Amino acid sequence: MTGEPSVSARRGDVAVPNRVRIGADRAATPTTPRVTPEASREPRREVVFDIKDMSAYYGDSQALGWTTLEIYRHIVTAVIGPSGCGKSTFIRSLNRMNDGIPGFRVEGQVLYHGHDVYAGATNRVEVRRRIGMVFQKPNPFPKSIYDNVAWAPRNLGMRDGLDGRVERALTHAALWDEVKDRLRESALGLSGGQQQRLCIARALAIEPDVLLLDEPASALDPIATASIEDLMHTLKHRYTIVIVTHNMQQAARVADRTAFFGLDTTGAQRVGTLIEYDDTQTIFRQPRDTRTRDYVSGRFG
Ligand code: ADP
Repeated sequence: MTGEPSVSARRGDVAVPNRVRIGADRAATPTTPRVTPEASREPRREVVFDIKDMSAYYGDSQALGWTTLEIYRHIVTAVIGPSGCGKSTFIRSLNRMNDGIPGFRVEGQVLYHGHDVYAGATNRVEVRRRIGMVFQKPNPFPKSIYDNVAWAPRNLGMRDGLDGRVERALTHAALWDEVKDRLRESALGLSGGQQQRLCIARALAIEPDVLLLDEPASALDPIATASIEDLMHTLKHRYTIVIVTHNMQQAARVADRTAFFGLDTTGAQRVGTLIEYDDTQTIFRQPRDTRTRDYVSGRFG
């Protein structure tokens, strides 16, 4: 099946099949791709995430409210909005990255290829394997370039053909040519932009289905930022990409679809809510909501 990871992961003796399988409840059932006919001018798109009425809380404090949207396969989806509106909370909820935060909880549903990411039977390790993440600040391990990329495959027992896997990941992250002669040198000697591409290679090494990028270029200079943006155009042919960015020009340059979040201040708490979600051109040129228009025109935020 195109687009599915092409390798089998092994954790100990337990083989993880190629098809999407994150919940023990759906053991061997192949997932039928669900497509949504959007506006007639749009191609039919396969739904990767179907998010239904999702709210997220840190203890008693609601960070994100009642979010419903679908994220489609092999495109770049940008999440934009003012600081504190829940962008990071939203993207981190897609692969349960916030599970370790005491008091954090999600209500509603996050369905990934039809599987409930937060269902009791869902295997969290498998969720993270399928849905990789790269953070704002490049965070390579204090190890060699090779060992950084080989780290996750080794942990998952994917030891066969490791050299090829490392080369492939570095090639897809557009870093191979720059580092192929110094794979055994420390990753900490790389420039900031190279370190971030290394972190992308590290995420790609286990051939995920989805790549979540939380402000991946905000700590980088303009040239390194441009190379990360170029990379997204290439990577979306293989992966489904969701990027949080506070940089609207960046969203306009890289994203096919854009979700604009804002802050609902009508209640006692300031809750992040989805205001508008559409193809990027519409969000930036013909937004329907005045709050979106004000934000993208720089009048607010
Ligand atoms: P954004 O990415 O849009 O800036 P965040 O998702 O980081 O927004 O934050 C949304 C809200 O959740 C904010 O009010 C923030 O203070 C709160 N928040 C974020 N992370 C935590 C946390 N670990 N503990 C408690 N509150 C948090």
